[in-house]
Amino acid sequence: MIWVNPKAMNNSPKASISERLQSVELAISKAAQEAGRKRDEISLVAVSKMFTADVIKPVLAAGQLVFGENRVQEAAQKWPELKQEFPDIELHLIGPLQTNKTKQAVELFECIQTLDRPKLARHLADAAQAAGRIPKLFVQVNTGAEPQKAGVMPEQVDDFIQTCRKDYEFNIAGLMCIPPIDEEPSLHFALLEKMAKRNGMPDLSMGMSADFEKAILFGATYIRVGRAIFGERPGQIN
Ligand SMILES: *Cc1c(COP(=O)(O)O)cnc(C)c1O
Repeated sequence: MIWVNPKAMNNSPKASISERLQSVELAISKAAQEAGRKRDEISLVAVSKMFTADVIKPVLAAGQLVFGENRVQEAAQKWPELKQEFPDIELHLIGPLQTNKTKQAVELFECIQTLDRPKLARHLADAAQAAGRIPKLFVQVNTGAEPQKAGVMPEQVDDFIQTCRKDYEFNIAGLMCIPPIDEEPSLHFALLEKMAKRNGMPDLSMGMSADFEKAILFGATYIRVGRAIFGERPGQIN
């Protein structure tokens, strides 16, 4: 079971999305202050997967412009129209990317957080060249070395980043992780921070609804928050 941090969540069913967004904002500010960091070092990525454009619009209207989606196909159906209405939207891909969707992903996303294998790097480089634009890139790390999970294995991270830099001249912004569901996330956040630091990268995408405050304490610059803003996702148990 996924535990949602009650402090960070205005969990009453009656709370509106904009009230929940405000609660999350408040929790971010508090966590930043406790960590001795500036609020504006941290970007909130509102994870809108499985929610329709109608649900997303009020969040945009409230001034939130950074969003995360985990499926290219779903994002392609929702976002082009929303981007016409709100041109400053910054869209992040936070789910696995298949090589046959790289072209579409490069056109649609301002940031791809799930670069995790050489073949994908090669396809991304080709797509970026064709499109004349390259999204901001994060390498996803499988910090828990879970067989079913995407991401580069921890012991291969340094080599993979080298390959991305040398062979494709990518400027990798940082690292992203999704800690194992049943482990203390702090260990994984600390590990990710160490790996980013030794590779000279400024950004860390870590922390979700249940643990974004901890992630901020460990240096997160992007937190990915879904349920604490939008409520439980339709048709999904966790
Ligand atoms: C769904 C998802 C999130 C958001 O999770 P919540 O628990 O809803 O905050 C964050 N990161 C990734 C990669 C996701 O797939």
